[in-house]
Amino acid sequence: MQNNIENKTVIITGASSGIGEATAKQLASKGAKVVLGARRADKLEQIVTDITSAGGEAIYQVLDVASQAENDAIVKLAKETFGRVDAIFLNAGLMPSSPVSALKTDEWHRMVDVNITGVLNGVAAVMPEFTAQKSGHILATSSVAGLKAYPNAAVYGGTKWFVRSFMEVLRMESAMEGTNIRTATIYPAAINTELLETISDKGTQEGMKALYDTYGISPDRIADVVSFALNLPADTTVNEFTVGPANQPW
Ligand code: NDP
Repeated sequence: MQNNIENKTVIITGASSGIGEATAKQLASKGAKVVLGARRADKLEQIVTDITSAGGEAIYQVLDVASQAENDAIVKLAKETFGRVDAIFLNAGLMPSSPVSALKTDEWHRMVDVNITGVLNGVAAVMPEFTAQKSGHILATSSVAGLKAYPNAAVYGGTKWFVRSFMEVLRMESAMEGTNIRTATIYPAAINTELLETISDKGTQEGMKALYDTYGISPDRIADVVSFALNLPADTTVNEFTVGPANQPW
């Protein structure tokens, strides 16, 4: 099978753990040049060391996706280091779920800042480049919570529904404008990562933990999906992937 991943420069947000880390490692092993962004420099440094010791190419920059300037800076770094940018995986996110009545309003706003504004900032940072070169691939991690509503996820789910709608319109407009910017939105179910650590509501965390202990699968499965999307020939897009444990009803 042809390797369309080799030599692509791919920026990954939320690359310091979980899905982002697994994806960075897998793409690098297939020959991509990966540019890792997240807030924890020590984690990113270790992942870059792991990748380069295995013969891959990787760099990192500390990134808070809520900042437009920091998104612009990581795109600039990618371009200066590797000559061009082929794809961005907008994966940074957090899920401090709770019932609305708990009124954890700081957490609501933080989810909006990272899960929504973070995606907008990443798109705004790469669009000029992708439009000018008439190619580019924008991938984003939504969630099954972006497809179905469920209790304790009013705000989290809302942020992920936003990603779904935004990415679909982006795909349509790019096709209409002839810019060949492809999109891939991923809707994972239970994936074993650090995500549950962001839940401060005790009851919600216990319920989610029990669910993940029963069903959770490896973040490598999401990396497989990202690889599949990036490996498609330039004239083809698979723009939505719902992926999760085979035994989870979700
Ligand atoms: P993790 O908690 O392991 O990873 C989240 C990543 O996001 C970390 O690398 C974290 O890095 C980064 N991040 C958080 N806030 C920011 C910020 N402000 N700026 C930059 N990076 C940030 O969980 P997952 O790997 O599971 O999460 C990845 C994505 O997958 C999220 O969007 C999540 O909503 C989504 N998802 C996950 C599911 C699951 O079951 N695990 C299911 C459905 C969707 P740092 O703290 O270093 O900044």
